[in-house]
Amino acid sequence: MPVTVVFKCEICGARPDLATQVALERQLLDLRHGEYVDAEPGRWLTWHGRGMYGPQRYACGDHRGELKALVREHYGTLGWHPWASGPHPWAGRRGTDRARALARTLRSTF
Ligand SMILES: [Zn+2]
Repeated sequence: MPVTVVFKCEICGARPDLATQVALERQLLDLRHGEYVDAEPGRWLTWHGRGMYGPQRYACGDHRGELKALVREHYGTLGWHPWASGPHPWAGRRGTDRARALARTLRSTF
C-alpha cells in the first residue's frame, strides 16, 4: 500500500515540489539524531531531531535560516548539533550499527 508522507515547511506551510518530495521520503528512512540534512533540488532543510532534540522539522528553501533559528532556540543548549553550519549534503543511508553506537554514547553521557 503506497503511503504519501506530507512534508510541510515549519515556517510557511509550503509543500515541496515532486523531486524534493522524493528526496525527503528517501531521507525519512535514515537513522539520524540531531542533524541537518539538505534536500535538493528545492533546497529544503530537514532537522533530524529524535530524542532530546525533538521531532523532525522541515523548511522550504526560503526558510532554512528560520528553521535553524527555531531549532537553536529550542535545543541550542543541548550540544553542538543545532549550531552546525551548512551545506548539509545527504550522504546516503547510515547503517543501523552507527545509530546504535550513537545511542550508546548518548546513554553514557546522560
Ligand atoms: Zn517556507
